Amino acid sequence: MTAHSLPRPFANATPAAAVPVSVAYGDGIGPEIMRASLRVLAAAGAQLAIEEVQLGEQVYLAGHSAGITPDAWDSLRRTRVFYKAPITTPQGGGYKSLNVTVRKSLGLFANVRPCRGLAPAVATRHPDMDLVIIRENEEDLYAGIEHRQTRDVYQCLKLITRPGCEKIIRYAFDYARAHGRRHVTCLTKDNIMKLTDGLFHRVFDEVKADYPEIATDHMIIDIGAARLADNPEQFDVLVMPNLYGDILSDIALELTGSVGLGASNNIGANGAMFEAIHGSAPTIAGQGIANPSGLLLAGAMMLDHVGQGDAAARVRNAWLKTLEDGVHTADIHGAASLGGPVGTEAFADAIIARMGEQPRHFRPAARSTAVVPIYTPEPPKPALKQLVGVDVFVDFTGTPDELATALNKASGNPLVELQMITNRGVKVWPQGLPETFCTDHWRCRFVPRAHACINRAMVIELLRDLHYAGIDFIKTEHLYTFDGDAGYSLGQGQ
Ligand code: NAD
Repeated sequence: MTAHSLPRPFANATPAAAVPVSVAYGDGIGPEIMRASLRVLAAAGAQLAIEEVQLGEQVYLAGHSAGITPDAWDSLRRTRVFYKAPITTPQGGGYKSLNVTVRKSLGLFANVRPCRGLAPAVATRHPDMDLVIIRENEEDLYAGIEHRQTRDVYQCLKLITRPGCEKIIRYAFDYARAHGRRHVTCLTKDNIMKLTDGLFHRVFDEVKADYPEIATDHMIIDIGAARLADNPEQFDVLVMPNLYGDILSDIALELTGSVGLGASNNIGANGAMFEAIHGSAPTIAGQGIANPSGLLLAGAMMLDHVGQGDAAARVRNAWLKTLEDGVHTADIHGAASLGGPVGTEAFADAIIARMGEQPRHFRPAARSTAVVPIYTPEPPKPALKQLVGVDVFVDFTGTPDELATALNKASGNPLVELQMITNRGVKVWPQGLPETFCTDHWRCRFVPRAHACINRAMVIELLRDLHYAGIDFIKTEHLYTFDGDAGYSLGQGQ
């Protein structure tokens, strides 16, 4: 037992019926909203056998550099159901995001984030919005693979995989099917990131053919975000890569009235994690004023997941009735509120007092029967992969012409030639523009001369030549074709 002492009702859960669940109280407002949520779940008749696990800031400060204890991993792998309060992630340094680590380590590839208007109980300009964001959860820039390569330049790798795209996009369509939704929108930036986001869009187009009853469209993420902010009612299910989903779900939730209302589940083949969408809100921590709704609704999703859908429906209905009755925490307090804002515990008490009641204005929640299958991607089809060149990234201070001269002088292999140099993706040699601002980070593309081929030994030879010429190469990227299609981007300006 820790300082967070577990609510007594779970201590009395029927051992045979109680489902083992790992619970983390988190940081900031985490312990307050977790205590309140567990009280409500227990009052709804949930049967849970809780294993409390330690992770987050306190664990890090106690000397576990990853911010999570080995015991916590054991519990997560045993129960495979994780109910997690928000945790603080250091910004710009410190340990990696534990949320990301847990999601990726347990293979929780789909992050499901429903966002629904609750007017008139909660003031919103979008009373009819009712959308679900399905965010890819394991890939994209969240690999956290970053390098500083030169004095001026830092890099973050964006990784998008075909199986990753296929799993999340099929999940979005299967989710729509299971929940009677009719439209799936895909959002990417494939006009710029033609290979990575282009793959996501292409897989979307391939997969949608298997769901003919569901309408689809694709939007570039910038206009999609603008439309979402202006007219969220037009959306139903949205599927997108990790970073876009992270940002858009906060925008969508804010439109519903408060980020404090947002719940999410993180689903994979081997487990699930249920959490609020918001963070640890350190500025209001310890004041007892946080809205526990997001975490509570995540708890209802968890009850659905473990087969306790009746209890989940009771939680949702008592919560809706509480909102209708005007009992509101400070973040959603407004014209529809009765009396002043209530604190976290009083809000939970109000929900518990309404347990078993149905809302009058909102459609009552029923036991969910939706089951969303999890797709296992087929093994990849073999492709003919051919090396056709190499991009050598160089740390250099000078002009493009000076660099080209140095590279041409250094490279001793007559079968390989310097084709172009780009700086931050823009072609600067040959025939660059003098106006282009150049940093100390250059991509130098070498290709075989006409009728010649290139192999890895020639790449090594080239690097050796550059080394002895004193050229500071910092990384290489091989250029491949796959069944004849280029697997690399061209320089802008080509
Ligand atoms: P935040 O979501 O914690 O807070 C944003 C704003 O919303 C603040 O004004 C806050 O007071 C308010 N807010 C959030 N939840 C609320 C609630 N339940 N009731 C009332 N108001 C609420 O975002 P942030 O301040 O950018 O992040 C704080 C910390 O949380 C950071 O360390 C961040 O990395 C972490 N974080 C964790 C998670 C997670 O654990 N899943 C998610 C997001 C952010």
